[in-house]
Amino acid sequence: MNEALKRAVRILLVEDDEDDFVLTRDLLNDCKRTTFELEWVSSFDEARDAITRNHHDLYLIDYRLGERTGIELLRHARERRIIAPLILLTGQKDSDIDLVAMNEGAADYLLKGHIDAALLERSIRYSLEQSRTLRALRESEERYALSARGANDGLWVWDLVDNNVYYSPRWKSMLGHEEGEIGNSPDEWFSRVHPDDKEQLSSTIDFHLRGWSPHFENEHRMRCADGSYRWMLSRGLAVRDEAGAATRIAGSQTDITERKVAVDRLTHDAFHDALTQLPNRALFMDRLERAMETLHRHPDSLFAVLFLDLDRFKVVNDSLGHVQGDDLLISVARRLNSIIRSSDTIARLGGDEFAMLIEEIDHEADAVRMAQRIQDALAIPFDVGGHEIFTTVSIGIALSTSGYQRAHDVLRDADIAMYRAKSRGKARHELFDTAMHERALKRLEFETDLRRAIERGELRVYYQPIVSMLTGKLLGFEALVRWQRGDELISAEEIVAVAEETGLIVPIGEWVLREALRQVRAWSSMNGALDIHVNLSARQLLHPNVVDRVTEALAESGVDPRRLQLEVTESVLIDSAETAAALLRSLRDVQVGLSLDDFGTGYSSLSSLREFPFNALKIDRTFLHDADVHRADAIVRTIASLARSLGMEVTVEGLETQEQVDRMRELGIDRAQGFYYSRPLPPEEVAGFFAKR
Ligand code: C2E
Ligand code: MG
Ligand code: MG
Repeated sequence: MNEALKRAVRILLVEDDEDDFVLTRDLLNDCKRTTFELEWVSSFDEARDAITRNHHDLYLIDYRLGERTGIELLRHARERRIIAPLILLTGQKDSDIDLVAMNEGAADYLLKGHIDAALLERSIRYSLEQSRTLRALRESEERYALSARGANDGLWVWDLVDNNVYYSPRWKSMLGHEEGEIGNSPDEWFSRVHPDDKEQLSSTIDFHLRGWSPHFENEHRMRCADGSYRWMLSRGLAVRDEAGAATRIAGSQTDITERKVAVDRLTHDAFHDALTQLPNRALFMDRLERAMETLHRHPDSLFAVLFLDLDRFKVVNDSLGHVQGDDLLISVARRLNSIIRSSDTIARLGGDEFAMLIEEIDHEADAVRMAQRIQDALAIPFDVGGHEIFTTVSIGIALSTSGYQRAHDVLRDADIAMYRAKSRGKARHELFDTAMHERALKRLEFETDLRRAIERGELRVYYQPIVSMLTGKLLGFEALVRWQRGDELISAEEIVAVAEETGLIVPIGEWVLREALRQVRAWSSMNGALDIHVNLSARQLLHPNVVDRVTEALAESGVDPRRLQLEVTESVLIDSAETAAALLRSLRDVQVGLSLDDFGTGYSSLSSLREFPFNALKIDRTFLHDADVHRADAIVRTIASLARSLGMEVTVEGLETQEQVDRMRELGIDRAQGFYYSRPLPPEEVAGFFAKR
């Protein structure tokens, strides 16, 4: 039974006509089964105030109240979220307002003069019963909503009118709390929400309470008794009064920490490099795309992409092994990470390639400065498994000022600029520009064509005579590669630069060696034994089986190994000293001569002469062009005498004038090579050279 029916039902009668009041009061007194406590007001204003106070179980309202109507009171009660039923009483002439009254939420509608005590009582009881049923129905809906959730979930019911929350025992235990430790204020919940999640939770609840979402659902962290945070999924449904205003909200709480951690892990793995834990290419591209969007919104903003490639990583990997190679990458990643700002992104794209996105920079120079900082940071040697490893990096820079439309293009151009840095000597950075892009396209075409040049027979060997300055005798030739690319004769420098990077130098070098040996063999049979000098680049020397290849080529041609001089520049000795030394020794073991080429450029050090098994030395032409003739001559004299004391032959390269010839002769040098004697010649012109002598 409804509480209201057990005790006297408190009724407010709103009636501006005293006669009608008496009539209704008498009818109520005649009711057999219910006792009433009647209060009477006669004015609209009094009625409105009484309804606001909400102290009654039921309202009996006259439709006509002076200027106002009972309909207005119905609306007022609805706005106040009054649950107690309102019954409207009307006169004969107002019989057509019944529909309006019901629509405005009247529980019933009675026609004055047609009412008897029994009818009135039935209407009152029915109205009270109906509101009770409605309330029960709502509660059961609530319960149904709750029971539909997992058995392991905590439950909560928040009464918005009293601002009390019922937390189920499970709700409390999920957070590591005992039953008595948590009261029933909303604060017990909200004070435990992680500060970063609070705002979203409140606004999601608010959104639902306002009726803008069909239900409420939010994921947030909750602080547990031990101080740790766990992820909770909270779902709820508001219970509304007839007017749609939420009077309470009930829901569940599910612990989703495990799922959340697993999902976070997966998301992390999908966007990070497993080795270094840096963002991977996918994440980098995503950030880059967002930077592009920002750029479209703020055209004045500026960002840069730096493409990094370690210079000698392959050497480390090959000599120390992959485990140590991995260690180096991890250390490099860590160091790079330490120099960037939090707004920047450093990613590993794969292998020894990294990319950096630096945002919110003021000037192009900031990007260049960053490149320098990277180089400085990597200049400090790394300790990898007890080995001290020096590494440098080549960096390409692309700037957002180039007017890019796609993120992909920015990275591509940074990559191209990085290549430029590599080919210009590594351990440096280059900025991309459009001219650079065009050069890159040309270069690509060049590469593809060069690949085919060997099979198409477009490569040629030119021969430059090496002569004795004292006797004028022809001692031999240096073989120099050329490429007949259509009408153009491509220089050795251009060919070698590209061939070195692409690995094409190995087949090209081998072809030059065989061709030169074949050629010199033919000339020697007519002109007496001649030396043949063939250049060997770093990549060729370090290529597996280099010794076998050389001995095979010698055997095939029938040339005496002592007639072959392999020319090696000093840079290869600096890059991989020990490996190079061993290989050079094996070549010496098969009687092949070794010349240290281009001595006097860059890295030269006299100690190389002792450390490596060279039998000859080629002095670079830079000494001939040195403005300070005395100093240059003094150096050349020192080099020559040291070489001689080590039993080495000395050749001077690049002699162009009589004056230079005289100078070198005076310094006691005999072997010479240069335009003064002859330019490098195609084989068909060599015959003429023989004839001239
Ligand atoms: P290099 O071994 O020092 O060769 C000598 C270079 O000096 C040649 O340039 C030659 O043409 C040039 N030269 C000779 N006499 C004079 C002179 O009086 N004045 C001037 N200004 N230059 C002179 P080239 O043929 O362009 O070759 C350049 C470099 O390319 C060579 O320097 C060599 O290191 C490399 N190279 C050439 N052919 C091959 C090859 O088949 N394999 C490899 N790995 N490298 C090669
Ligand atoms: Mg040479
Ligand atoms: Mg040289």
